[in-house]
Amino acid sequence: MKNLIAGNWKMNGTLESCLALARGVVEGIQADPQLLKKNEFLICPSYPYLVLVQAELTQAVALGAQDCAVKNNGAHTGDVSAEMLKNINCSYVILGHSERRADHREQDGYIAEKAAMAHRAGLNTIICVGETEEQREKGIQEEVVGEQLRDSLPTHVTAENTVIAYEPVWAIGTGKSATPDDIAAMHGFIRDQLEDENIRILYGGSMKPSNAADILTIENVNGGLIGGASLKAEDFLGIAKAAE
Ligand code: PEP
Repeated sequence: MKNLIAGNWKMNGTLESCLALARGVVEGIQADPQLLKKNEFLICPSYPYLVLVQAELTQAVALGAQDCAVKNNGAHTGDVSAEMLKNINCSYVILGHSERRADHREQDGYIAEKAAMAHRAGLNTIICVGETEEQREKGIQEEVVGEQLRDSLPTHVTAENTVIAYEPVWAIGTGKSATPDDIAAMHGFIRDQLEDENIRILYGGSMKPSNAADILTIENVNGGLIGGASLKAEDFLGIAKAAE
């Protein structure tokens, strides 16, 4: 199974900087095509830039969105449907990111509904799970992640339509990634909860070129969901290179 190296650009950049970043990723891969032997690449810019960023991409880099609506069309001001994303050639959508769970009070059942919508539209979903610092300190991380997996995954989840991202909330954007032992334990736990053993499980949380080799070589880590370090083509691709 190839690693999925996924960049979550969040609400960053201007049109010009996002186009330049997309070009940088494409050119970096063209300069080092070996990277494609073990990796697939995905970038997830914010909604307004999707169409124009798509025009910069080659087959080597897939396009994804950072969220989608729970409905497919109609009177839902401000929402963007999974069908619309599919229509502009997105192949992935990130769902249940901890920032959406926190900022928009998204809950497991709602995320599962969105995921079902996305699957119906033909999108792959990256469903995010992860405990807070407080939950880890209490030692209930497996309980928390187990519940998130049970309740935020729709039915008919397979390796063809779903990727799981384990993102401990306290590791996101903090510069403090989880230890290899903690990652190994949680990814093993997640693997045991999934029926389809080929579903990819990504790690996310302060991944960068300097810790990527240690993380991407852990059993049951099948790639990374990368925030901050995906905003520089060199660092984003450096993560894939580090694991070689
Ligand atoms: C993320 O938001 O998905 C993420 C992992 O961010 P960062 O890499 O910046 O910690």
